Amino acid sequence: MHHFDIILAGGGLSGLTLAIELGKRDFFRNKSILIIERDAKQQNDRTWCFWATEAEDLPPVLFRSWDHCLFYGTKGEKRLKMPPFRYHMVRGIDFYNWAAAEIARFPNIQRIQAEILNLEEKGAVHTDQGVFTAEWVFNSAITPTELVPKASALYPNPAFSIPNAPQEKTKAHTWFLQHFKGWIIETPLPRFDTNTATLMDFRIDQKGDTRFVYVLPFSESKALVEYTVFSPALCTAAEYQAELQHYVQNFLKIDEFNVLEEEFGVIPMTDFGFSPAQQGNIIHIGTAGGFVKGSSGYAFKRTRRKLQQFTEAWARTGTPNMRLLRSGYRFRLYDSIMLRVLRDQLYPGKSFFSKLFYKRPAPIIFRFLDEDSTFTEDLRVISSPPPLPFLRALWRQLPFLKTL
Ligand SMILES: Cc1cc2nc3c(=O)[nH]c(=O)nc-3n(C[C@H](O)[C@H](O)[C@H](O)COP(=O)(O)OP(=O)(O)OC[C@H]3O[C@@H](n4cnc5c(N)ncnc54)[C@H](O)[C@@H]3O)c2cc1C
Repeated sequence: MHHFDIILAGGGLSGLTLAIELGKRDFFRNKSILIIERDAKQQNDRTWCFWATEAEDLPPVLFRSWDHCLFYGTKGEKRLKMPPFRYHMVRGIDFYNWAAAEIARFPNIQRIQAEILNLEEKGAVHTDQGVFTAEWVFNSAITPTELVPKASALYPNPAFSIPNAPQEKTKAHTWFLQHFKGWIIETPLPRFDTNTATLMDFRIDQKGDTRFVYVLPFSESKALVEYTVFSPALCTAAEYQAELQHYVQNFLKIDEFNVLEEEFGVIPMTDFGFSPAQQGNIIHIGTAGGFVKGSSGYAFKRTRRKLQQFTEAWARTGTPNMRLLRSGYRFRLYDSIMLRVLRDQLYPGKSFFSKLFYKRPAPIIFRFLDEDSTFTEDLRVISSPPPLPFLRALWRQLPFLKTL
């Protein structure tokens, strides 16, 4: 059978999350659902980190959690007051295995491993195994716009496919990349405090961009050290290597270590409108649907939350409401201004994050970035850096505010 009620084109974070949310609700029990994914999902292809409170609904696959976080900016070390938040890590492979076990409980959901070649607005998915059609196609596999660079030696497997003739990138929007190279290192002697993560370390050379390192200890002798850059283009492979080596030796003061695993990733940081989220019978979700927070690159919690709210409302009302997949305008505006400041180099990212974390309690910043803050909390966050560069950015964005 090639026709389904719902097709999930792409079975990564957003596709699998949506499958579970659909599967567990009675309303969808009689709907036939197909997940099309090219990858077997048996590799640990990424780690997801995020802050969360005890009250939040998290998947039961947390790999590590940290009670304490450090921030290093223009004025040295700051120990962040985290409660009620903790910082967590989920490994891709644990999430994929858990999701597979959950989905196996729902007989109306099938999975096939196939390469998606093309999507048609009427709800047709062309793959190397044939054409599949559905009333609704949720796409996280193909981005019509080039959100991340095409495959290269440095970046051989972009997580999503870009059609041969991508939509043109608009000049009104910022098209930054968050690109990072991580090493899981092991030291012969205990060197790490397992309860404390370094969220952002800006002591490194900024080279005109926003550059920082985070350090996430797995044990006293093992940690993920990740060199991260916000900029329009990727660095060379040699530069990531050299910067990581330099950081481990000069800031962690570790000379003897083994690199056990490497991670390289690129996340789009953009204020592109992603509108309409729906094209005919296709609904874009995940990175392809603009779920990545433009100013921070975080997406794990947002993806789960948006899709939970969306399926809950669909089951209740009988109709999918695409608006639930978008962030509120006020947060899209904040992200856009922040990105414009970075793009036009109106104020350095290092100084911006330093003002934020030295002046304001971390939980307020986290709530702001989670888009859960009150307007008063927004004002506290927005007023921490000097206003002029941000007003200038707002002025330059004025003609484009309708396009966000
Ligand atoms: C290395 C890395 C680390 C990240 N770390 C964090 C983090 O710490 N915290 C956070 O909040 N966010 C993080 N992100 C951002 C974001 O959470 C992830 O990218 C997330 O996986 C996005 O979900 P998605 O469903 O849109 O994409 P994906 O999870 O990448 O799923 C897309 C799926 O589509 C499949 N696919 C692509 N093309 C085709 C095709 N032609 N045919 C069939 N299948 C196809 C892919 O194999 C993939 O499984 C990270 C991203 C990366 C790349």
